[in-house]
Amino acid sequence: MTNEATVQDGQVVTMEYTLRVDGEVIDTSEGHEPIEFIQGVGNIIPGLESALYGMKVGESKDVQVSAKEGYGEEDPAAYVDVPRDQFPDTIPMEVGVALSVQDGNGNPLHATIQEVGEETVQLNFNHPLAGKELHFSVTIAGLRPATEEEMAHKHVH
Ligand code: ZN
Repeated sequence: MTNEATVQDGQVVTMEYTLRVDGEVIDTSEGHEPIEFIQGVGNIIPGLESALYGMKVGESKDVQVSAKEGYGEEDPAAYVDVPRDQFPDTIPMEVGVALSVQDGNGNPLHATIQEVGEETVQLNFNHPLAGKELHFSVTIAGLRPATEEEMAHKHVH
């Protein structure tokens, strides 16, 4: 690896990052391993990926990502009322409780309890960061070309 390398499509990027929303740290690699991903294949959110092109190892950047380029705008259709008796007793009926449910095909979906009514519970299926502007502070910690196999799988091995 040479320090002349820059972030381009097909590069495996090792990156330290901190994500802030409304000034609050939501997620950070500090104290953990940096993340690794392949640039240009959609491993990370589009607004962040596009801001990284041309960065060198050791370079840092603050990147603002709009909701649209991040986790998407809030979808009003993603608020769904569910009869209360469809929830097992083990789930606390409290606003803010995060749930994993399955769609008709058995795929996992994540939801948060938005409102608890007498008869129904409203679930919010929006991503918790939908509608939020994201502020990333990133440092490129490493770069190497992805292998053919990694490119075929679209993930880092
Ligand atoms: Zn693989």
